[in-house]
Amino acid sequence: MQITAGIDVGSVATKVVMLVGEEIKYLIKPTGWSPRDAGVKAYDELLEQVGCSPKDVNCRVGTGYGRVSLSFIDKAVTEIHCHARGAAYLIGKGGLVVDIGGQDSKAILINQKGKVLDFTMNDKCAAGTGRFLQVIATALGVDVSELADLAVGRNPLEINSMCTVFAESEVISLLAKGEDKRDIIAGIHRSVARRVWSMASRFGPVEQVIFTGGVAQNKDMQDKLTQASGCPVVVPEFSQVAGALGAALYARDIIS
Ligand code: ADP
Repeated sequence: MQITAGIDVGSVATKVVMLVGEEIKYLIKPTGWSPRDAGVKAYDELLEQVGCSPKDVNCRVGTGYGRVSLSFIDKAVTEIHCHARGAAYLIGKGGLVVDIGGQDSKAILINQKGKVLDFTMNDKCAAGTGRFLQVIATALGVDVSELADLAVGRNPLEINSMCTVFAESEVISLLAKGEDKRDIIAGIHRSVARRVWSMASRFGPVEQVIFTGGVAQNKDMQDKLTQASGCPVVVPEFSQVAGALGAALYARDIIS
């Protein structure tokens, strides 16, 4: 049986995918302070879960910002290419991929084979990224995984600050004024979705937006992105590991 691996060392989470034949096995771990250790540990842990040894893996491709620190990979491929490849594999057609990760957001126009036709990204400012949501969640005393349930169906408040630091202060002022935390979160989600779509809209309108990255796990963000874009938004299974999956597919190309 052919086995390939993709290792995506992101700023927040390290994702490893093993393609065991056609089966997708994966693992997600926090990256922490050492991208190198995170990559090695996550890879070793998934090997153990799958029940194979390093020599059983035919090829390994690394991606994500920490890919340069991985010494055990056969090749490194950019996140843009890996996300495109993984997303096309998951939905079986081309379209516009919107990936919102920990420290950047990207819009990638792809064809059916996952080839990148064009792309744009924000990696200069935390607003419009998962980090922004983490800062706001901390200010509100909740975990980032709780944001969606709190915000669904609420009345989004207008959030005027674009900068993460000012938005955090604005949120604290809104709380002090007695505003409901759930309406604040809904407003924050809407502001992130609008910000990301203002970057991605140069490729729209599109038949559908393929939403990937950690923030795509947030159901209310899916709704807010649908409203901001005016396009149907799909979140395929394995969307958080789309980059690692793309890397494992590139690894498969290398040996075929
Ligand atoms: P990176 O590749 O940069 O490490 P990810 O694509 O893994 O980033 O996304 C990380 C972000 O996803 C976090 O900053 C957080 O905002 C968000 N996130 C992760 N898990 C969840 C979850 N269960 N629910 C909502 N948001 C999540």
